[in-house]
Amino acid sequence: MLSALRAAARTRSFSTMPIVDSFTGAIGNTPLIYLKTLSEKTGYKIYGKAEFQNPGGSVKDRAALGLIRHAEDKGLIKPGGTVVEGTAGNTGIGLAHVCRARGYKCVIYMPNTQSQEKIDLLRMLGADVRPVPAVAYENPANYNHQAKEFAESIDNAIWTDQFDNTANAYAHYITTGPEIWEQTGGDIDGFTCSTGTGGTLAGVGKYLKEKSGGKTQVWLADPPGSVLTSYIQSGGKLIERSGSSITEGIGQGRITDNLATFIKDIDGAFTIPDEKSIVMLYELLDSEGLYMGASSALNVVAAVELAEKLGKGSKVATIICDGAYRYQSRLFSKKWLASKGLEEVIPPHLKKYAVL
Ligand code: PMP
Repeated sequence: MLSALRAAARTRSFSTMPIVDSFTGAIGNTPLIYLKTLSEKTGYKIYGKAEFQNPGGSVKDRAALGLIRHAEDKGLIKPGGTVVEGTAGNTGIGLAHVCRARGYKCVIYMPNTQSQEKIDLLRMLGADVRPVPAVAYENPANYNHQAKEFAESIDNAIWTDQFDNTANAYAHYITTGPEIWEQTGGDIDGFTCSTGTGGTLAGVGKYLKEKSGGKTQVWLADPPGSVLTSYIQSGGKLIERSGSSITEGIGQGRITDNLATFIKDIDGAFTIPDEKSIVMLYELLDSEGLYMGASSALNVVAAVELAEKLGKGSKVATIICDGAYRYQSRLFSKKWLASKGLEEVIPPHLKKYAVL
């Protein structure tokens, strides 16, 4: 009887999601997870937006839909057309899903350094994947420029241009930002996340700044090898890119148009070393049951650092961009961790998770 009552009470506490219209209707409205153990340990209130719950598995589903909707609204693509993008992963996966759901062809140019899992997944989703040599953005053979050129060479095709098409940041301004504001009841002292295109940080940051009247602090979180922290800290000096990180999908060598829409309002930036990100990744798996990619772990480290700056009891939100599934052969492999000099930083009680 008691267990039946408990079960009924649990059922009642769920709010029922409405039936949604196709794959794209399932994008967004993700939970905001209170990271309980971490918050209790640190004395802050840390929240992670569960973007891995998007139907294509990452925060980039929102951008993919936003970019395609933008092209449709402007009449740039007609039924049966082709969507072309240069991407190393999650945006391509989001686009491939949205293209299937809306009847478009999808062509993805990607650097030939990417994992076979990602190439396979894109092909399973019906995308025409074109791996090209991994060369710098300044080189005309860079995957982005090749994507643009190809889109221009065929009829009824668009290059979605995730880095410099601000429909990307706008998608977060009208969905991710408002969701976080509502979920926290507007009681949010800080927000931080890392950037690839800058769409998430710019869109969410702009919305939270506007709603809070500038009170919510917005900080950029950067991996090693990115130029953005030094750009922000130096008041706008762009250094040459050097170094690398185990995190995928984040870090930049230039100020994209998406980031440019918000960069003057960013309050500060941190660079988070890989050692801290990987330990957080394992800790959150152990204590919160979260299985997340390395950019998400970096974001959570930054959220704690921002909370430290903002003071006792402060409330900070960040983004859990995707799950570890796309990276598990690396992040949970002893050999791979050792090759990056990271095996030793995992505390002994967490080493059991490195099972590959
Ligand atoms: N994390 C992961 C795993 C990603 O793939 C990306 C996008 N490349 C980001 C974070 C950063 O998102 P944005 O492009 O909105 O800056």
